[in-house]
Amino acid sequence: MKYINKKFTIEKVSVQKIAKKFDTPTYCYSYKKLNENIKNFKKNFKSFSPLICFAIKSNTNVNLIKEIKNFGLGADVVSMGELMMALKAGINPKKIVFSGVGKTSKEINYAIDKKILLINAESKSEIKEIEKIANLKKRKVQVGIRLNPNTDAKTLKQISTGKRENKFGVNDKVFIEIVKYCKNSNYIDLKCLSVHIGSQILDHKPYEKMLNVISKIINKINHNFEFIDLGGGMGISYNSRNKKLNYKKYNLAIKKFLKNHKSKIIFEPGRSIVGNTGILICKVIYIKKTESKNFVILDAAMNDLIRPALYGAVHKILPSVKKNKKLYKTYEFVGPICESTDKFATSKNFQELKEKDLIIICDVGAYGMSLSSNYNLRPKPTEILIKGSKIKVIKKRQKYRDFI
Ligand SMILES: *Cc1c(COP(=O)(O)O)cnc(C)c1O
Repeated sequence: MKYINKKFTIEKVSVQKIAKKFDTPTYCYSYKKLNENIKNFKKNFKSFSPLICFAIKSNTNVNLIKEIKNFGLGADVVSMGELMMALKAGINPKKIVFSGVGKTSKEINYAIDKKILLINAESKSEIKEIEKIANLKKRKVQVGIRLNPNTDAKTLKQISTGKRENKFGVNDKVFIEIVKYCKNSNYIDLKCLSVHIGSQILDHKPYEKMLNVISKIINKINHNFEFIDLGGGMGISYNSRNKKLNYKKYNLAIKKFLKNHKSKIIFEPGRSIVGNTGILICKVIYIKKTESKNFVILDAAMNDLIRPALYGAVHKILPSVKKNKKLYKTYEFVGPICESTDKFATSKNFQELKEKDLIIICDVGAYGMSLSSNYNLRPKPTEILIKGSKIKVIKKRQKYRDFI
């Protein structure tokens, strides 16, 4: 994705062409970038060839998941809907893990029937529920237990999950109790220790700490885990000043861990696979000057992309065409929704805009469309996938008749 002759272009297609053909707001993904991300991810950890389970919640588009499946990835799901979507995309159930603190008996039933690789349980009650259902089916079920390693991921507090005060996983004491319980169960096959300490992690040190905690607890108990599921959370660069996660050091720490604990590593990356593959193309509806600000009112809003409103996340905003004449302004980019938090960013030194200009919001491939809603009864945007000069609609714009 770059400017070619001053026009922002995805692979071989300009944003202007997409907007003309599909209208705005439109989510647009690059196949090439997806391919690159997956190849790099595999390369970073190639010495122990992990099972990579794409975190479906980051992007639930069935056509995009199909492409991801074609690269050999499995899925990490957190609800029955996501499990159905992963299966619909053709992902092998033996490559699916099911996470989440509140799996209902209906969801557990479905997961057992589909013979997925692992149900990663997050409490004693859940283990008992799985056992009860497995007993009724007279089937031994493969499970993991999610450990809360009490490790600070050094990320936004809203997307931190591995600290004692977070609802996720169980502490070491409960973990050991559950291991004992599982050993005496005829219907639980304890295969995995899982963790996931948070999202948008850019420092390798929390991962090192997490591995040390896992190592210690395994040394305390006499159990061989066939799988160690390290979760996802690898961060991406939302702006050029972003620190970059040191994959080399993370890889080294895992290799060291594997010397003492032989097991298959599972990862559950979401953002690092799809985050930078997507942009949101939108249009300036009005420019509204007030005493203190220049508001740029876009046709995209917090219902299309909620990350800035939800966690104060910052997404780079770019013009679709770079102008020759250098006249810069400070703009506040907002959506039309009736909430003051419906704001994307304030940009200083942005090239002068006019109404109907096209705008690009960057790095929205993860937690963009998947967190979208119909708030203010706004239809959900179109999603398209670019492969070279080919454009494929992977989800049509929602129609008013879908909800009226
Ligand atoms: C959200 C989540 C992931 C994916 O996190 P990313 O930051 O997108 O890599 C992985 N595992 C679990 C259990 C999750 O909840």
